[in-house]
Amino acid sequence: QAKKLGRNQYHFFTEELNQIVQNTINLDKDMRQALIDNEYCLFYQPKVDLLTSKIVGVEALIRWISPTKGFIAPNVFIPLAEENGFIKELGNWIVEEALNQHLKWKEMGIDINISINISAKQLLDKSFVPKFINTLENKNINPSKIDLEITEYMFMEESKETKNNLNKLHDFGVTISLDDFGTGYSSLSYLKKFPIDYLKVDKAFLDDFNSVDGSIFLETIVKMGQMLKMKVIAEGVETQEQIDYLKSISCDQYQGYYFSKPLSSKDFEKFYFKN
Ligand code: C2E
Ligand code: MG
Ligand code: MG
Ligand code: MG
Repeated sequence: QAKKLGRNQYHFFTEELNQIVQNTINLDKDMRQALIDNEYCLFYQPKVDLLTSKIVGVEALIRWISPTKGFIAPNVFIPLAEENGFIKELGNWIVEEALNQHLKWKEMGIDINISINISAKQLLDKSFVPKFINTLENKNINPSKIDLEITEYMFMEESKETKNNLNKLHDFGVTISLDDFGTGYSSLSYLKKFPIDYLKVDKAFLDDFNSVDGSIFLETIVKMGQMLKMKVIAEGVETQEQIDYLKSISCDQYQGYYFSKPLSSKDFEKFYFKN
């Protein structure tokens, strides 16, 4: 009896595992087809100055809305795209789309900075930096209006390549943000070694700001960032209470649902002209 049950459980387990593997394979194929079928788009979340409450920029965030599967979160498909190499193609599309949007908005009188999330694989690709710089030159875009968001995971491997590439971009005039700060394998020495202009403090620290420990971390990160000549951005701000606190510790900017969720380009335009 026990043996039988055991075998059934095993069977059930492999079945489930099979399904997971199958789903991953399908997603692999589907995410490539989705680019051909135009299923990706970029949403934009405002970055706000804490002192003036004015929009200083936007972060481009990818959205995949599949006609058959519905909304698929970037946290699901971006890691897969990094694994299977598709991020190179998708990343090119993201950059192109974000830069074109920047130009369209400039023409409309929305002359703001735009931040683009870049994954480690993308940055380490030999052709990325020269291609990126070339594109900015061809499109006649002021590089100081463009910001690239990277994460600490990038510093773990190939850090010499990473450093060279970031320096090239930074020397050209593009700004660099360190995203999700405090969640990765942070070593503080990175902050001196790499050309970082903005420190984006992860939402986890804000969620915890009411506790004594939480507020000590947040306040210390803001001070440290500013002493290293970086601007500090708080991510995931959802309440007025959090804003008051961030102001009290002189944080520079914030992003979050409290001000605005990520918006389609059309919705962002309406939102921008209302503000
Ligand atoms: P991220 O770059 O740290 O982006 C912030 C995430 O937090 C976004 O999720 C955003 O919608 C969400 N968020 C913003 N404000 C709030 C808030 O007040 N409360 C809560 N609960 N969430 C908030 P999203 O768009 O699902 O993106 C998740 C992650 O996927 C991003 O984290 C980024 O790492 C990655 N990602 C998104 N778009 C791209 C892209 O175009 N390229 C690459 N390489 N990665 C991307
Ligand atoms: Mg980001
Ligand atoms: Mg972030
Ligand atoms: Mg984050």
